[in-house]
Amino acid sequence: MPRAPGLNQSELGDAVPGQAPIVAAKAPEKMARDKIQCDACPVLCQISEGRLGACDRWGNVDGKLTRTDPVVLMRLASADPTDRDSMFVSGVGSGTTYPDYKPAPFIVGSRHDDVDLVTVVTEGIFSYCSFKVKIDTDRYLGPEQASVRYKGEAVGHVTTIEYGSQFLSLGGVHHLTGGSKKEGRLTCELMMNLGNREAAELEIEGGAALTVQANRAPIINGVEEQRMRVGCGSATIGIFAQQWFDQLDEVVVVDDHITGVLTEHQAGRCLDMAPSGIRLRGRKSTPGRYFQVADPGTGWGGTDIRDPLAIIEGWDAKVARPGLRLLMVSTTGEDAEYFVLDDALVPCKAPMPAAVRKVVDRIGENCEPALATVLFLGGAGGSLRAGVTENPVLLTRSIKKLLTRVTCGGAPAYIWPGGGITVMVDVARMPERSFGSVPTPAIVAPIEFTMRRDDYRALGGHMDRILGMAEVVDHAAHRVITWDSVNPWPLASFA
Ligand code: SF4
Repeated sequence: MPRAPGLNQSELGDAVPGQAPIVAAKAPEKMARDKIQCDACPVLCQISEGRLGACDRWGNVDGKLTRTDPVVLMRLASADPTDRDSMFVSGVGSGTTYPDYKPAPFIVGSRHDDVDLVTVVTEGIFSYCSFKVKIDTDRYLGPEQASVRYKGEAVGHVTTIEYGSQFLSLGGVHHLTGGSKKEGRLTCELMMNLGNREAAELEIEGGAALTVQANRAPIINGVEEQRMRVGCGSATIGIFAQQWFDQLDEVVVVDDHITGVLTEHQAGRCLDMAPSGIRLRGRKSTPGRYFQVADPGTGWGGTDIRDPLAIIEGWDAKVARPGLRLLMVSTTGEDAEYFVLDDALVPCKAPMPAAVRKVVDRIGENCEPALATVLFLGGAGGSLRAGVTENPVLLTRSIKKLLTRVTCGGAPAYIWPGGGITVMVDVARMPERSFGSVPTPAIVAPIEFTMRRDDYRALGGHMDRILGMAEVVDHAAHRVITWDSVNPWPLASFA
């Protein structure tokens, strides 16, 4: 059996006098003698010696139930390796509290800036969780609410388009439990892979094929996305109007949502630009701002057009004039063409003057690199709270009062307002391979709660289970990694 040295459930429990083992699986009467039962999740695997359970996270090592990955400890890069106050116990590899009444696997006391702290560490089993994926692109990925498929199974849906990004909602209890067994299994597989920053191939019904991976450029229909747009068409007009007005007589910034027309736009009016007489397709919203100039697609500015002139209906002959200089450009500057009106008021493609090219290039310069970002969203307001306190609502209140800090693998978690403990965390800020799964199916993710020792006592914490860092280091199989300085140190600023 491939096995990393891990937490032996009886070792740590036995090491603390008077405390019960963290997992005390009671063997069913009919179970073979050489097996042990894991009760770290509802599957209750019976594991023969030398074998792993169904999730590969627990095994039978010499007759003892053992977490196959060591718990991950984190140390500040600048710290003296012997300074245990500069270490943090993460939930990665820590083990679970299932069947829920047990104290968390690690409840660790520490002292920082003369303040006594406690960190309660566990791996939560999340049935209610999902991943929100933000894909920086103007390209049309598919209709809102369309199903997102992974290996043919529906695993989520397209949600709103935000400013320069398309959002997907993937996973969730509906797909984990509400469909076929295969749908639940593949949803769980996809979620774990995304959380562990692996690439996932997705297909959107009626839309694009995607490859998404946390903090990597998205690949849309086989093409790696490069730029996140500078703004909508209207915003692009506003930003660059002054740089254009003495170089051009008209600029159209093509955008699937809000196409901008410089001379009509308030920015052009403030610059006293003369009307150009251009008549655009689509629905005029406000001066110089047009909706629905084309259908959505993967062409210019997230529309389906390849020829920008397709969105021009015509020119007002009383206003337009031969020789009028027209720039058509997309919101990323990737597509841009320069035209001059001939005597018949027909736009003729012409070489782009250097000064115009410079501003087009500046649009590109102002685009950030396109990324896919993956956020884990999980409900921690359920049974895992019992691993922290005997009165769970006090933990919820303590978090809401900002007395308790929540991290996931050391990464700061945003706690949604309202009821419950709904955590959201960027998986790119968590240690590698932080996520696991169990075949119920559900996702396993690390979570840590840090608070002052007095506050822990006040919320009914398991005070008799508090270990010192030295006990963790001495008795638990562990792996030390360097703290990711992108994250705030969770033990700081309690003074
Ligand atoms: S699937 Fe559940 S019961 Fe089986 S080994 Fe994993 S955690 Fe234990």
